[in-house]
Amino acid sequence: MKDILIIGAGPVGLYAWSCAGMLGLSGYIIEGNDSPGGQPWELYPEKALYDMPGFPEIKTKTFIENLMAQVNNNSNQITYFGKTNILTVDEKNNGFTVTLTTSEILNVKTILITTGNGVFTPIRLEHLDPNHEYNNLWYAVKNLEPCTNKKVIILGGGDSAVDWANHFVEDNITKDVTIVHRRELYRAKESNVQKLQKNKITELKPYHIKNVDTSANQIIGLTLEHEDTKAILELTGDYFIVQYGAKVAPTMLQQFTLETAPFRKIIIQPSGQTSHPHIFAAGNTAYYEGKYYNMVTGFGEAINALFNITKIIHGNKYHPGYLSDIKK
Ligand SMILES: Cc1cc2nc3c(=O)[nH]c(=O)nc-3n(C[C@H](O)[C@H](O)[C@H](O)COP(=O)(O)OP(=O)(O)OC[C@H]3O[C@@H](n4cnc5c(N)ncnc54)[C@H](O)[C@@H]3O)c2cc1C
Repeated sequence: MKDILIIGAGPVGLYAWSCAGMLGLSGYIIEGNDSPGGQPWELYPEKALYDMPGFPEIKTKTFIENLMAQVNNNSNQITYFGKTNILTVDEKNNGFTVTLTTSEILNVKTILITTGNGVFTPIRLEHLDPNHEYNNLWYAVKNLEPCTNKKVIILGGGDSAVDWANHFVEDNITKDVTIVHRRELYRAKESNVQKLQKNKITELKPYHIKNVDTSANQIIGLTLEHEDTKAILELTGDYFIVQYGAKVAPTMLQQFTLETAPFRKIIIQPSGQTSHPHIFAAGNTAYYEGKYYNMVTGFGEAINALFNITKIIHGNKYHPGYLSDIKK
């Protein structure tokens, strides 16, 4: 039986993974999405972070890549399973037998839940085969370079759509940006909405998409219909960025009967322990009164939970010491 199963490989799960490795814990980490990285990787990889200790400014994508590099240095005792979820959990012999949706069976002594806000899947553009990949249709902006001096069409009217429209112009990626929104009013911060005009962004609203013109792996253009006048507009572009928000899949953690707070958050003690003595939680999924939900808070909770997990594995008197000593 291995020491630990970490559920969720967002930033907090990734940090827990490398620390668990450094602490000498054996086990597994599972991730429901195609790739690890969680919300920062899926939702805002190109933005800068300003609140990471030791980094005055760092691109989110680079920060997540650094977390992954840290994992690679310390992960040899922890096995990763991607695009999988938990099917059943049985408690037996002072541990857990966990069956995954991909049929693997894992036997572990403890569990650390780092499932954040759940598995994110972007809301997709209608009119398209969901199983077909289009090179110039993006649901998350993971690399700005291809858009340099190209015609970029942004679909959506929320904060991230408006943010991206401004970002492309303000960071001198391209001046040719169009935003298409199906309502007259944006659902975004007013100061950013006002920047759209200043940045000379073409605003097409209220328009909805009537048809998408494709060729092999490319989007060629969109047919738009005005919500009121029903006038038709044909719009071509080089890159199409859909920012309709994301659906959060049900947590699929109903196999655990843990004490929860509103929004299905899991209540934890200062030790990171949930209402089950061998199940811990950290990051956005974990709740206590007065908590500020950000990455640094989650990292602290994760290492603290792991420290208490080492006590379950090695006995209450065990103290792992500082990781700088362990790694020497
Ligand atoms: C636009 C935006 C900007 C932000 N800016 C900042 C910032 O500047 N600084 C900052 O510190 N924080 C910021 N945050 C908050 C930060 O992203 C979160 O605090 C952080 O992502 C929490 O990390 P997490 O690992 O707990 O959860 P998540 O990032 O949500 O990751 C959870 C992971 O678990 C996986 N998962 C979920 N359920 C299961 C399951 N049942 N089985 C397997 N895998 C599962 C998910 O797919 C995901 O990969 C921002 C958030 C947003 C939306």
